[in-house]
Amino acid sequence: MVTYCKLKSGNWGIRSDSDLADGTTTVVTKRDGTQKKERVGKKVWSKPADKVFLFEIKQAKTARATACDNCGRFGAIHECQDSSGLTGVCCSACARMGRFERSFG
Ligand SMILES: [Zn+2]
Repeated sequence: MVTYCKLKSGNWGIRSDSDLADGTTTVVTKRDGTQKKERVGKKVWSKPADKVFLFEIKQAKTARATACDNCGRFGAIHECQDSSGLTGVCCSACARMGRFERSFG
């Protein structure tokens, strides 16, 4: 279960019952039961014995922190599709490639 939580910094963060990797996307359940995709940021606190892991939310607008879905390099700012029709975010180099050369896995 992944929910929102208020961090010490005053910003909203992610509270998870399992460890999440920085830069991955996770589905967060809101209090009203609706779900939203968020990108996992830096881990700010954890207590594995109680299964509590707190993370910052990575803002999509900060291009430097967004990994390219094709090559994994940071600096992805272009919305692209891959060969199977998945929509993702690419770096400038991958955005110049043909769609059928990309695979977001
Ligand atoms: Zn790339």
